Amino acid sequence: MPLQILSFTVGPVATNAYLLADPASGEAVLIDPGAEAPRLVQALRAHAWRLTTIWLTHAHFDHLGGVAGVLRAVQPPPPVGLHPHDCWLWQAKGGADWFGLDIEDPGPAPDLGFYHGDTLQIGEHACEVRHTPGHTPGHVVFYCPEAGALFAGDLIFRGSVGRTDLPGGDHQALLESIHTQVLTLPDATRIFPGHGPATTVGAERQGNPFLT
Ligand SMILES: [Zn+2]
Ligand SMILES: [Zn+2]
Repeated sequence: MPLQILSFTVGPVATNAYLLADPASGEAVLIDPGAEAPRLVQALRAHAWRLTTIWLTHAHFDHLGGVAGVLRAVQPPPPVGLHPHDCWLWQAKGGADWFGLDIEDPGPAPDLGFYHGDTLQIGEHACEVRHTPGHTPGHVVFYCPEAGALFAGDLIFRGSVGRTDLPGGDHQALLESIHTQVLTLPDATRIFPGHGPATTVGAERQGNPFLT
C-alpha cells in the first residue's frame, strides 16, 4: 500500500504540518507540528495510526510549536528528530521572540539527531534525510523516493525560496542546497513545502524566479 500523506495548515503563520502513514502497518510520522496539536492528534486517532516519530525540518517556532502538545497526548511519546546544527535555535525557543510571538512550551529537547543520508522508516517505506542549510544551519528535507515526494520545510516554496535574513541564515548556502538536493531529483517529484501550496521539482526548475 502506498504511503498516505495528509496535510494540515496550522498556526499564526499558516505552517504546513504533514502526517505520513503506512496504512499496512498503521505506523505514522508527523512532520513539523507547528501548532494546533489537538487537531493533529485527532487525525491520528481517527485513522488509528500509531505515531512512531516526529520529524522536524528545522527549529523555527512555527514548525515545532505543537510538539509539546502532541507529546502530552500520545502514549508512549515518540522521539523528536532534528539536525544537531539547529539545537541552538531550539534553545532560543525557535526564534519566536524575533517575531514578537511566544510559544508557551517548547517541550522536551529533541532526542534524535538527523544527519545527511540517514534512512528513516515508516512501516515498510523508506525516506531519506538531506541536509539543506541556508534558511537555518540545521535545516533538512525528507525525500521519499517511492512516493515521489519531498517534504521541503522552508527551503523552497512554489515560486519562491526560504528567507535568509534571520539569525543563522545564508542565501548562498540556501541556493546551493536547492541546486544540489532538490533540482537533482526527478521533475515529477512533488514538493510539499512548509508554507503555501504543493508544487513539483519540474515546475520550480522552469518557473522559480529565484533559481535562474
Ligand atoms: Zn523557518
Ligand atoms: Zn516556516
